[in-house]
Amino acid sequence: MSPFTSVAETTDRATPDLRILEHWKAYGVRDGLAGASGGVDYRLPQKGRGLPGPWALLQAQLGWTAMVVSRQPHRAAVKVHDPVTAPRILQGFDGHVTRQRGLCIAVTVADCVPVYLYHPDGPSIGIFHAGWRGVAAGIVEAGVRAMEGVSGHAAENIIMHCGVSICGSCYEVGPEVWEALGEPKPKTNWPIDLRDVIARRAQNLGITLITVSPACTVHESRGLQSYRRQGAQSGRMAAYIGIGEPCTRTGTPVD
Ligand SMILES: [Zn+2]
Repeated sequence: MSPFTSVAETTDRATPDLRILEHWKAYGVRDGLAGASGGVDYRLPQKGRGLPGPWALLQAQLGWTAMVVSRQPHRAAVKVHDPVTAPRILQGFDGHVTRQRGLCIAVTVADCVPVYLYHPDGPSIGIFHAGWRGVAAGIVEAGVRAMEGVSGHAAENIIMHCGVSICGSCYEVGPEVWEALGEPKPKTNWPIDLRDVIARRAQNLGITLITVSPACTVHESRGLQSYRRQGAQSGRMAAYIGIGEPCTRTGTPVD
């Protein structure tokens, strides 16, 4: 049993495809997971910088001034955004951090953990995509360091949520994965709780306010995308976070 507080995302009544983090609204932050009912696929195209249709619709639906996402190499590069005025796809980042109001930063997931970060000083927000390769490469540490840099304050006031992903019962991996993550190596394939690994790493960096979603992309299949369950057929969901009131309800970029 995980020592971290379990907090479930809730289905947005107005938009059933969204699962939102209700309790983060108190921070002036809007965040959640889009594509949670399986009807919309947020996979990114191999090339180009323009946001595909479903992303543009999401930006408009959520009312953000701009939205950024990256093709994710499963490593530990985190992009600090300031300022961004037009929606775009980047290349090579698994995480994003910003203080910019109205900017939505996002990652794509299908089993990997979307990790949401909020720092009240600034305030600043972050999001990163964490599969085992990214965690082994140091994405948790890189994400927290980027938040410290942007906020100008130590990690202890950061609030973190590990979102909808494959759970610790469904994610069986080889001993080499346990080893790469710096965990005690089992003799045979054994399930690992990646959210728990991420939360413990964050705790070691000084973060105390950590919550973990109980939702699982594999055993709770209701519309959630899962690479492990669906293989190459799986789509991607969009985990997003934005701070403050959006500047426009039209989604039209300002430049
Ligand atoms: Zn599961």
